[in-house]
Amino acid sequence: MDYIGNIFRPPSEAESLLLQVTVGCSWNRCTYCAMYRDDEQRFRIKPWETVEADIEEAAAAGHPIPRVFLCDGDALVLSTDKLTRILQRLRDRVPGVRRVGIYGDARTILRKSVDELKTLHDLGLGIVYHGVESGDEETLRRIDKGSSRDETAAAAHRLREAGIRHSVIVMLGLGGTERSREHAEATADLLTEMDPPFVGALTTTVIPGTPLHEAQTRGEYTLPDPWAMLSELEILVDRSRLSRCAFHTNHASNYLPLRLNLPTDREKGLRAIREILAKRDPGLLTPEYRRGL
Ligand code: SF4
Repeated sequence: MDYIGNIFRPPSEAESLLLQVTVGCSWNRCTYCAMYRDDEQRFRIKPWETVEADIEEAAAAGHPIPRVFLCDGDALVLSTDKLTRILQRLRDRVPGVRRVGIYGDARTILRKSVDELKTLHDLGLGIVYHGVESGDEETLRRIDKGSSRDETAAAAHRLREAGIRHSVIVMLGLGGTERSREHAEATADLLTEMDPPFVGALTTTVIPGTPLHEAQTRGEYTLPDPWAMLSELEILVDRSRLSRCAFHTNHASNYLPLRLNLPTDREKGLRAIREILAKRDPGLLTPEYRRGL
């Protein structure tokens, strides 16, 4: 397989065939993101011949490949024609593909009509992983996310209409100490409006070399402490109203790993969070050395 740069994928795509159809991220401006900052990862669309050869290599393996993940950071930016060609070829050549996943965001989702998304869904596109990060307009502006909270909600509705599952990522602490509460409350409200089937909450880590790190150095951003991060998590679980959602905080960056089915597990989750907040015992948190970042 032809891989350029570091390959990132969601944890739930660990068993998937990783097919790199674009390199890097066409946006590449989110202030906290260090994924595609190397020169070799500047954004480009990989030539069809390269993608075609990778699909043939997977086909030659001769065993069923139930899941495929299209890399890199926002591969949904590809035109519907290009994605159709890739999905069709996977369907024709690789046995057993049941679901194709991809990273997308509000910009790339809203560039496609419901009909286009339905076409992609019919060809196997089953899930879009979307770093929503925050529902707070001011935080979205500060992190240069490139889309508003209303656009983000609209993107969720469009995916639902097309029958594509939506896996949403939000980031604890991204509003800094200054907007911690606003960020958490607005994110809970946006989740309610989006009502996605999957939510993963990650804990913000400030990575050297990113604009967020520069803002921190200038004193313009202060990372909330672990207790404040947990208070944000408490707000998310308490305030959001989700009809049926697998809500996970088991990403390595988190201080408290939880797997909740909301709304059923709301009280259980709140009890766990509040117990730790009441005790304030650092020994109850995932230790820093184990927070694989
Ligand atoms: S859209 Fe995703 S990959 Fe691109 S810069 Fe933002 S966080 Fe990074």
